[in-house]
Amino acid sequence: MTRLTDEEIEAIARRIAADLGGGRAPASAATSAPPTAARGVPVDTGLGIFATVAEAVQAAAIAQPRLVALPLAQRSRILEAMRQSMRENGEMLARAAHEETGLGRFEDKVVKNRLVTEKTPGLEDLAPTAVTGDYGLTLMEPAPFGVIGAITPCTNPTSTIICNSIGMVAAGNTVVFNVHPTAKSCSMKTIALLNKAILSAGGPPGVITGIAVPTVESAQELMRAKGIRLVVVTGGGAVVKVAMASGKRAICAGPGNPPVVVDETADVEKAARDIVLGASTDNNIICTDEKEVLAVASVADALVASMGRQGAYVVPRERLGELEKVVFKAMHGPRQEAEIDRSLIGKNASVLLAKMGIQVPDSIRLAVVEVNEDHPLLWTEQMMPVMPVCRVPDAGRAIDLAVEVEGGNRHTAVMHSKNLGNLSRMAKECNCSIFVKNGRSQAGLGLNGEGYCSFTIASPTGEGLTGPRTFSRWRRCVLVDHFRIT
Ligand code: NAD
Repeated sequence: MTRLTDEEIEAIARRIAADLGGGRAPASAATSAPPTAARGVPVDTGLGIFATVAEAVQAAAIAQPRLVALPLAQRSRILEAMRQSMRENGEMLARAAHEETGLGRFEDKVVKNRLVTEKTPGLEDLAPTAVTGDYGLTLMEPAPFGVIGAITPCTNPTSTIICNSIGMVAAGNTVVFNVHPTAKSCSMKTIALLNKAILSAGGPPGVITGIAVPTVESAQELMRAKGIRLVVVTGGGAVVKVAMASGKRAICAGPGNPPVVVDETADVEKAARDIVLGASTDNNIICTDEKEVLAVASVADALVASMGRQGAYVVPRERLGELEKVVFKAMHGPRQEAEIDRSLIGKNASVLLAKMGIQVPDSIRLAVVEVNEDHPLLWTEQMMPVMPVCRVPDAGRAIDLAVEVEGGNRHTAVMHSKNLGNLSRMAKECNCSIFVKNGRSQAGLGLNGEGYCSFTIASPTGEGLTGPRTFSRWRRCVLVDHFRIT
């Protein structure tokens, strides 16, 4: 029912490609007028896509009180319609994201879209709390912020929009997305589909809006826009810095460099399987994917050999120099972040290895290489399916090094161990938003792990896995002297 017709998808893609630039869209998506011309370029209406920040914010501001005026039962139907549309279109959007950005693996993007569609929390996340006593009743209830300005990454373009939209709308907000410029077409399709779903369930137009030609400048304009009450950014360090300086309440999901510790008590075969699967998911571009292994020396050989049997290619140590030249454009010395070749982010291991003259099939998901603890591969979030493995004398040293290479992001860490003392020490010292024990990193996102999903993990600002609760203002409502009824 909410599937976009090919013509609609075509129209969106054509319009985006035509580069609206400063062209004017209708003042509000609320209009059901037929497409009008902006500088000769046709502009769709009702799909939530606007030429300027001001127009998108205005449309979202009109929609927000209309959204919260609806009964909760209807908000629930709207959320279900959004999920249903994403069930129907998740695969198409995964393909669109893969083709447009050239990042990651199509089949993994399908899994990501499905995960956020099913496991992003809805209204159930918004249970109010109550306190009663001699002085009566106090109720704490979540309320919407209003209009949220959301900035999204190219690494998870459609899944972040799906996840943010479900969580933000559940909490009664409307949203303006400034998406990553290199993922604008698949992002606009996602926005358009979500709007269609909302309309089909009786919601108002303009609940989810986007800037047709997003830029870094329009992202900054959005963060400063008067009608925006909350800024939510998902991306690297630069955008987090800008958001935190915006003067607005900001929820910031920044970069990570998740270490994996494997100690001598681990189930080595399982650890190897989990690391290969986890680190290679979408070719290592997810912020939570395992990015370096610190293995206790007594199990390191067995671990690497097992990874080689379970989908990884083990790069001979003497070829590390060649691999460095592929991954990095410049290195800045031991224990320093190096400059990655951004054109190779999210490419298959076969593509990276081919640059070294090594031919492997696409079914090889990861390239594994042994490094020493100073090597920049450990200290850099390289977002390629290249897994450095560093041999350390014992679990204590592994944990110390893991904390160092994580870089203070406090994002994600993983450990494979059966030693409760070691696990407990790692949990305390890594101090991350997500800590996965004896599983793949995605278990922390609810994939083969318990708990809800979020693709906006706010470590710098402390919310952790965001959702409807974090997109809410908590309000206290006090009744004095009554309704302590027991
Ligand atoms: P990116 O920082 O290049 O872009 C993210 C978004 O920020 C884009 O929309 C971009 O246009 C915008 N942006 C970038 N610089 C900006 C600036 N100076 N002012 C205003 N807007 C700006 O990131 P990316 O390459 O799309 O994504 C990968 C990065 O994001 C990695 O570092 C990854 O760890 C991180 N990430 C984190 C999470 C999380 O939940 N914590 C999720 C996904 C990605």
